[in-house]
Amino acid sequence: MRFAINGGGIGGLAMGVALALKGMDYAIYEAAEDIRQVGAGLWMASNALNVLEHLGIVEDIYQ
Ligand SMILES: Cc1cc2nc3c(=O)[nH]c(=O)nc-3n(C[C@H](O)[C@H](O)[C@H](O)COP(=O)(O)OP(=O)(O)OC[C@H]3O[C@@H](n4cnc5c(N)ncnc54)[C@H](O)[C@@H]3O)c2cc1C
Repeated sequence: MRFAINGGGIGGLAMGVALALKGMDYAIYEAAEDIRQVGAGLWMASNALNVLEHLGIVEDIYQ
């Protein structure tokens, strides 16, 4: 089974990591032509950070 994830935002990317950790096949489809930095700060709720920590990618958020 192959999963299709529509949207390469933090939700879609986190879903992709979750599926990859389970060894599942997936593709992420992003409507935007490119992904750019917007120069804005990002506040993350503690429950969201818990999910990213569980996925093993929370350190990437701090960079
Ligand atoms: C200025 C601003 C500041 C924000 N600051 C914060 C913050 O500090 N902390 C916080 O928690 N939240 C913040 N938010 C809200 C934050 O954007 C969302 O919580 C978060 O991005 C949601 O992630 P998401 O992956 O669900 O959606 P998005 O980040 O919106 O990602 C959805 C992606 O799907 C793509 N897409 C849409 N339709 C399709 C389609 N049909 N096919 C393929 N791709 C598609 C879009 O191009 C987009 O890249 C902010 C929002 C804005 C506008």
